[in-house]
Amino acid sequence: LLFQTIPNGTTCEGVFDFNTGNKGDLPFKKGDTLVVIQRTRDPNWYRAQNSKGESGMVPLNYITQHKEVKLTAMPWFHGKITRSDAEDLLTPRKDGLFLVRESTNYPGDYTMCVSFAGEVEHYRVIFKDNKVTIDEEEYFENLTKLVEHYERDADGLVCTLTQPLIKKGGHEYSVDTEEFRKSGWAINFTDLKLGTILGKGDFGDVYEGTYKDQKVAVKSVKDRSKAAQAFLAEASVMTQLHHKNLIKLLGVVIPQTMSNDPIYVVLEFMTKGAMLEYLRSRGRALVTSNDLWKFAKDIALGMEYLENKQLVHRDLAARNILISEECVAKVSDFGLARDASFNLQGGKFPVKWTAPEALKEGKFSNKSDVWSYGITLWEMWSFGRVPYPRVPLKDLLAKVQSGYRMDCPERCDKIVYQLMLKCWLKDVNERLSFKQIVHELDVIKPKLLPAINP
Ligand code: AMP
Repeated sequence: LLFQTIPNGTTCEGVFDFNTGNKGDLPFKKGDTLVVIQRTRDPNWYRAQNSKGESGMVPLNYITQHKEVKLTAMPWFHGKITRSDAEDLLTPRKDGLFLVRESTNYPGDYTMCVSFAGEVEHYRVIFKDNKVTIDEEEYFENLTKLVEHYERDADGLVCTLTQPLIKKGGHEYSVDTEEFRKSGWAINFTDLKLGTILGKGDFGDVYEGTYKDQKVAVKSVKDRSKAAQAFLAEASVMTQLHHKNLIKLLGVVIPQTMSNDPIYVVLEFMTKGAMLEYLRSRGRALVTSNDLWKFAKDIALGMEYLENKQLVHRDLAARNILISEECVAKVSDFGLARDASFNLQGGKFPVKWTAPEALKEGKFSNKSDVWSYGITLWEMWSFGRVPYPRVPLKDLLAKVQSGYRMDCPERCDKIVYQLMLKCWLKDVNERLSFKQIVHELDVIKPKLLPAINP
């Protein structure tokens, strides 16, 4: 008999009530969330932890694994291009060749461009009530579903869509909310209690809350526009991640299809908040170089896990590291579908954290994350200073390309600074990997000066 083993850290759900009263067993109810923490010699039993942090043995046939939610790429989506650009792209004209772009005349709407009989037809795709429609008769949850419909049937268009015009470079993604339901990540709003606002996220407020007696952080997004798709894309990436140094997703509240209720993403609560604030508020007096080392190791382990999965973070920075009650640092803010709002023109682009090859040629990789990790180390050892003090943003890329690197932060161990410099090597092949960083951290640990404070 072949058993499918459940990896450590996987989120599962009870399918039946389980309560034997036996010492060592972990009782749970149907629908409870459990995290597998250890395999046992018996393939039918796992050690698991519940939301209160209690652990014990659970039988395999009483639990079900939450599946990964996959994103759907939209290779035919070309973003903000003009009508005439679209017509140029759709050459040579071939019946049914199509692309979708953002509408220039109606911001927030889209345009479907279809080549037919040597001409290009442009159809307005209206974004209304969190749905998209061409004919205001049939509505779709996202662009992918709309395209799939017209690939099956012309339904009023000049012809059926037969061939997507594939965008060169990075693609945007759509997320099917139904997938969250199917894969076991959907949770009921009634199980959720919202508390005070913790902070502002990219998409909306972040609340403190409770989910089935567990303290949680809740991110919300009200509309279902492009931003909401990016928000859900982040959650769907998180369904694939199981590591103690990455923020854990607990579930997603998916509103009824036709309602205007917000979408909520429920995350494990990090009591000590963002690392940047943690370091700025406590400073040298309260944080030792050992503490900094431990955070650096935590972050490197989380990033090594992403590296093994070939997932690129793109926005690693001290502001995106959160600290738990037990002072464990965890990486947060995974937006994979970042191409949209993360273009170089956008005000939000983290220029000072981004590797030169990524800034210049859009070459994001695990190695560009390593560059950002080096910047994060610099932020940590300078207790939350903004990187490249006094360098104007517009001069930064040229300066860095000509070899300029930040100085060693005040009172920072030289061996730590050496590590930063190895993260900032121009040649990505020479730059360290996260696996190597984890190793280097272990090597430098015994050589660290005992205290960073004088
Ligand atoms: P973000 O959208 O992730 O940048 O979140 C904005 C702010 O909300 C952060 O700076 C934190 O202060 C807070 N926050 C986000 N996620 C969590 C969490 N899991 N636990 C505690 N606070 C959080």
